Amino acid sequence: MAKKQFKAESKKLLDMMINSIYTHKEIFLRELISNASDAIDKQYYHSLQGEGGLARDEYHIRLAADKENRTLTISDNGCGMSAKELEDNLGTIAKSGSLDFKKSAGDDEKKSDLEIIGQFGVGFYSAFMVSDKVTVETRKHGDDAEAYRWESKGADGYTIEKCDKEDPGTVITLHIKEDTEEEKYSEFLEEYTITAIVKKYSDYIRYPILMNVTSSRLKEGSEDEYEEYTEEKQLNSMVPIWRKNKNEITQEEYDNFYTEKFYDWEKPLHVIHSKTEGAVTYDALLYIPSHAPYDYYTKEYEKGLQLYSNGVLITDKCGELLPDYFSFVKGLVDSADLSLNISREALQHDHVLQLIARNVEKKIKSELKKLISSDREAYDKFFKAFGLQLKYGLYSDYGAHKDVLQDLVMFYSSSEKKLVTLEEYVSRMKEDQKTIYYACGETTDKIDMLPQTETVKDKGFEILYLTDDVDEFALKMLREYEGKTFTNICADKLDIETDEEKEQIKKENDDSKELLDKMKEAIGDGVTAVRFTSTLKNHPVCLTSEGEISLEMEKVLDSMPNDNKVKAQTVLEINIDHPIAEKLKQVYAEDPEAIAKYAKILYAQARLIGGMSIENPTELSNMICEMI
Ligand code: ADP
Repeated sequence: MAKKQFKAESKKLLDMMINSIYTHKEIFLRELISNASDAIDKQYYHSLQGEGGLARDEYHIRLAADKENRTLTISDNGCGMSAKELEDNLGTIAKSGSLDFKKSAGDDEKKSDLEIIGQFGVGFYSAFMVSDKVTVETRKHGDDAEAYRWESKGADGYTIEKCDKEDPGTVITLHIKEDTEEEKYSEFLEEYTITAIVKKYSDYIRYPILMNVTSSRLKEGSEDEYEEYTEEKQLNSMVPIWRKNKNEITQEEYDNFYTEKFYDWEKPLHVIHSKTEGAVTYDALLYIPSHAPYDYYTKEYEKGLQLYSNGVLITDKCGELLPDYFSFVKGLVDSADLSLNISREALQHDHVLQLIARNVEKKIKSELKKLISSDREAYDKFFKAFGLQLKYGLYSDYGAHKDVLQDLVMFYSSSEKKLVTLEEYVSRMKEDQKTIYYACGETTDKIDMLPQTETVKDKGFEILYLTDDVDEFALKMLREYEGKTFTNICADKLDIETDEEKEQIKKENDDSKELLDKMKEAIGDGVTAVRFTSTLKNHPVCLTSEGEISLEMEKVLDSMPNDNKVKAQTVLEINIDHPIAEKLKQVYAEDPEAIAKYAKILYAQARLIGGMSIENPTELSNMICEMI
C-alpha cells in the first residue's frame, strides 16, 4: 500500500510531537477526548437537523487499555470521517494556523515550537507524544457509509485503506511507546492513571466517558477472601458546578467543591459565582479562603485560577488572571471565547484573557467592598488573613492600584477601638478637620501611650494606629483619601494650635535659642533640633520628625538588609507648660555647661517613650545617679 506523506507543515508539527518538547505529555488524552466530544456534538447537531443519528443519551466516549498489547483506545460514536475527511483532517494540520506557522518557522527553533503549539494547538498529533503507532478506524453514520483505517508510525507518512467497522464513529488506537529512562509511558496503560487524567482535564465533558474498571471485593459469603471484578464506570461527572444556576447550588455544594478541588480543610469565607456576557462571555467561580495557606507570605506560594475553555481544563494555575494583591483568591474561569490549545506563553498576551482578568479584578473588589457592610465579622476575619497583602498592593507600583484598594484597607481606630476603613474614618471627621490623623508603633497599646496621641485625642480627633511595617508606606503612596491628606501626629505639623499659641511658642523658642542650640550640640547627631512646644499636654518631652521620612519608616528601612541607611530628621520637643522647661532655663542661667547632661537624659527619655532603644544605657544610668 502506498504511503502518503504528510503536508510539510504537518510533518514539522509531528516531528515536534514525536520529540515532544511538551512537558505535560498526559494532555494527549484531553486532546483526543475533546476531539471525540466535538465529533459527537457535530453528529448530534446533524441529527437535530433530521439527518438520523442517535438519541442524546446514546452518545458516549469509551476508553480501554490493553497492557499486554500496550494499546490504549479511545472510541466515540460521533460523526466519523469519510476517506476524504480522513485525508484532509489527519494528513494536514488545521488551516487557520498555517499562516502563523510559516511566519514563525524560521525563528529560533524552541521558541517557534512553543508558539506553534500556542497558535493552533497540539490536537490529534499529541497522540505521537506517547505512541509509536496510531491507528484511526472511522465510519460515518448511515447504512451505506464505508469504514476506513488511517495508520501512521509518525514522520514517515501514513496510509489509508478500507476496513471493516460496524458501528458508526471513530476508534483511535494508540500503540504506547516502550518505557525509557526518563519517561514511563506504561503509566498511560494503568486504569488508575487514566482515571486521574480524565478527572483532572475532562471531568466536565458533556458526554459520559466510560471505561471498564477492575476492583476487588469480598467474595460472597466469605469474610477474608477477595475477588477481582470488572465493571463499566463513568469517569467524568459531566456537569460543571459553575455552569449551573446559582439557585440550583446549595452552599454545601459550593463548599465541598472548594475543599475538594483546592485542598483546603476549612470551608471558604466567601463564594463569588458570576456569569458574564458581553465583550467576552465567561463563568467565574471564585473563593476567598478563610485563612492564609501556610506558605502564603513566602516566595513558594503561586497565585492563579484554573482556566477552562468550554468545560475543558486549559491550565491549573493561570497567574495572569489575578493581580498580586488578590493572589489569595482560589477558583476558576471558564470561557468559550478562549482557544483550548493556547500555550502558557501565548496566554500572557491573550486579549480575551486580559479582558477577563480585568473583570475578575473588578468583581473581587466589589464583592469585598460589599462584604464590609454586609458581614463585618467575615470581613474582619478576611482582613486578618490577607489585609497585609492588600496594603502591600496599595504601596506597590507607586500606588497605581489605589482605586481598587483604598476602600478595602482598614486600620485600628483610637475612638472605635477596632479596625475601620478610611471611608468610615472620613464619615466621622469633625467639620473643620482637614486631615486624617495617624500614628505608628509596634502595638496599638504603645501608640496609645505616645505623648502626641494624648494631645490629638484631647482635641477630639480620631487617630488611626498603624502597626504593620508597610502601613505608613502605603498611606504615603495614597497621599490623600477623598481629598483629605494624611498627617502623622509624630512627624508632621499638626497645626492644631491657635494663632495666638503659635505666636507665643515662637517667641519662647527665639528667646531661648542659645539654650536650645546648646542642648542640640550636647545630643549630637541624634537630633536636628531641640524646640519648645505647647502641644504636649502632660508629657515633658517627645521626639518628632520633619521631612519625608518618619521615625517609624526609619526603623523599618533600617531593619532591611541593605547598606543605604536612611535617617529621619528628628526633633526633640520639650513641653513648655511642664515644670522641666522652667528648670532648664534656670540651670542654663546658673551654669550653661551643666545643661548637656539634662539634654542627654531628656533625649534618652524621649526615645524610650517613642518605643526606641537608647544608644548608651550605661552613660544614662550614671548621669541619673549623679543627679540623684
Ligand atoms: P482540531 O481539533 O484543533 O481541529 P485536530 O488535529 O485535533 O485539530 O483534529 C483535526 C480534525 O480531525 C478535527 O478538526 C476533526 O475534524 C477531525 N477529527 C479528529 N478526531 C476526530 C474524531 N474522533 N471523530 C471525528 N473527527 C475527528
